[in-house]
Amino acid sequence: MKSRDLIEIYERLLKHLGKQYWWPAETEFEVIIGAILTQAAAWKNVEIAIENLKAEKILNPAGIKNTRQNQLKKLIKSAGYYNAKSRKLKEFVNFLYKNYGGDLNLLLNQPKNKLRKDLLSIWGIGPETADSIVLYAAHKPSFVVDAYTKRIFSRLGVIDNGIDYESLKKFFENNLPENLGIYKEFHALIVELGKKNCRTKPVCGGCPFGYSCRFNFKDERAL
Ligand code: SF4
Repeated sequence: MKSRDLIEIYERLLKHLGKQYWWPAETEFEVIIGAILTQAAAWKNVEIAIENLKAEKILNPAGIKNTRQNQLKKLIKSAGYYNAKSRKLKEFVNFLYKNYGGDLNLLLNQPKNKLRKDLLSIWGIGPETADSIVLYAAHKPSFVVDAYTKRIFSRLGVIDNGIDYESLKKFFENNLPENLGIYKEFHALIVELGKKNCRTKPVCGGCPFGYSCRFNFKDERAL
């Protein structure tokens, strides 16, 4: 694939779906908490958890640090996997206090690669969550890929379905200009298409790729 083809896909999605204005959050810390809680959870259930944390006035590093894990579990229950996720929130703020004195700006102002490495060293933060934090909380260009990205682009015939996270991320970064706005918007558009049309059982009517999509001409099992 040529770089301009990927840009064409981006522009077609943008024209069809419009700007998504991600990430929906009032603060950088809220982005981080949302990125952790949204793992394997529908966003509407994450929103309930975030509202609960806001209502308790603990949606800040000190608030999470000073709240008992059992209390956190109750507040974030709607987001699922609350045992693991409450621990992940604790692990994140513990790391922040231990290494950056609780100062989120100090952490987020690290050079991109150092920040990503730091985040990946925290229990419960994998590549997708780390890249979401680098891109949407630190505002540094690190492309986020996910299951929707793999599904859509393999169905389009652009990548192999078995591609791993880092190779898929590199594919986008090597073929796009290193532009923060495009990185932020492209990932959001991919998620929107995945939710709206390119589901497990795709709804191809109304998809902007329609007949140019390889999936329409082949059995999915062959992709
Ligand atoms: S045409 Fe269908 S399979 Fe192809 S990207 Fe659109 S929704 Fe997915």
